[in-house]
Amino acid sequence: MQANQKMCVVCGMPLVKVEDYPEGADTNVVDWCKYCGTKDNMNSYEQALKGMTEFMMKSQGMTEEQAKKAAEEALKNSAAYKDGRLK
Ligand SMILES: [Zn+2]
Repeated sequence: MQANQKMCVVCGMPLVKVEDYPEGADTNVVDWCKYCGTKDNMNSYEQALKGMTEFMMKSQGMTEEQAKKAAEEALKNSAAYKDGRLK
């Protein structure tokens, strides 16, 4: 891994190309991916939970209940939400 390798603080996706960032984002400032926010703001916890729940249902074939639980678990361990930057 390169020293300047950045990862999305929400989901952990590597931020390699400018396309990985939200459209129009300043890649020196923004440290989240296009799935986790806009160029100005990270998604709120509620938005992130909803998005991740849908993602889990689609990608893992979980029921909504299972997916929500898994999403809550994932976000609990996410640096972005753990350090209190977002509520
Ligand atoms: Zn992300």
